Amino acid sequence: MARVGVEEVLRRLLGVKALVVRGAQFEPHGVEVQVRPRQRRARCGECGRPSPGYDTSASRLWRHLSLGRTAFWLRYAPRRVLCREHGVKVERVPWAAHGSHFTYEFDELTAWLAQRMDKTATCRLMGINWRTVGTVVQRVVQARLDSSRLEELYIIGVDELSFRRHHEYVTVVVDHLKKRVVWVAEGKGEKTLQKFFDELGPERSQALTHVSMDLGAAYQAAVEARAPQAQKVFDRFHVQKLASEAVDTVRRQEVGLLGGAAEGRALKKSRWALLKNPWNLTQRQGQKLSEVARTNKRLYRAYLLKESLAKGLDYRQPGRAEQHLDGWAQWASHSKLKPFVKLSRTIRRFKQGILAYISTGLSNGLVEGLNNKIRLITRRAFGFHSAEALTAMIHLCCGGLSLTPPLPVPN
Ligand SMILES: [Zn+2]
Repeated sequence: MARVGVEEVLRRLLGVKALVVRGAQFEPHGVEVQVRPRQRRARCGECGRPSPGYDTSASRLWRHLSLGRTAFWLRYAPRRVLCREHGVKVERVPWAAHGSHFTYEFDELTAWLAQRMDKTATCRLMGINWRTVGTVVQRVVQARLDSSRLEELYIIGVDELSFRRHHEYVTVVVDHLKKRVVWVAEGKGEKTLQKFFDELGPERSQALTHVSMDLGAAYQAAVEARAPQAQKVFDRFHVQKLASEAVDTVRRQEVGLLGGAAEGRALKKSRWALLKNPWNLTQRQGQKLSEVARTNKRLYRAYLLKESLAKGLDYRQPGRAEQHLDGWAQWASHSKLKPFVKLSRTIRRFKQGILAYISTGLSNGLVEGLNNKIRLITRRAFGFHSAEALTAMIHLCCGGLSLTPPLPVPN
């Protein structure tokens, strides 16, 4: 085996292509390696076109990976070039994105870890704060997001998620067939979804066959305007959520009516017993429920209505489900419970979309794993400085982005 000089050893250790090592020194923050691009001719940082030199800027540092406890840094004084198109620009270096203080390898490993590990572990291993992780992820996603992800979309789901203590929202579009997130943007409602259709364009919008969503008016309006041929699908998760909200409204009204009386206080603690699925009730909650059945007929009726609606959504045949839903709406409209009278109208109005859920089995629940994952990400997003960092993180973790981190390979 041929002996190699220490510069060559360093170059191979760094694992960065197209770079020449000129020397190295120990500094308090790690090892600084003086480098230069292998290519003599400078290129415009913006477009990469070889351009005549203009002057040389001050030397700067790029954070590279660590070896054990030692961080490696690249030091170089980039030239400035005079680009025909962009004017005076700092040259492009082969080891980092334009304007970035981190090498590509550092970015890639950080993003790969952020896909798989929690916040603290990622920050600790890479020695950077969570905000910086957000910036790195944004850069990686921008460069690597699959540009064909909006191609061949037929069955999609759209949903909104709140973050930052429910004050802000992101709208997420998933591809039901490929089970991945294809589009994310800050905001909610019709205007936000319109932006998705703008990006999709008329031709691809016409190809959509089904769109699953909640029963709110906003997304429906956008779909009707831009993809009127698509069947709207209202999945059970969203329908049942409305029934749970109705039960809770009835409960609060009853508590209000009873005031501070003992019955009122008892109802206050019945919330979970009323909202949970019956098979998940604890013994105590079961007792609570029979207490409600004994003492408050109105609230118990609300509970039965909620459960009956859930049962209607269990049917596999749309015919059976339709019969059940019609009967249910009849019952609810005569229940003398305002929230359920209102819900009966909603169910009647959107029956076709609910039956489409029965016949297609399409549910945002199908991508529920994805939903839970996004919820976790939005919770982690507290430390981010912008919604863009959050949307990039959602693309990174739920968009099927595959990364190749610089991990050791067996010889
Ligand atoms: Zn240029």
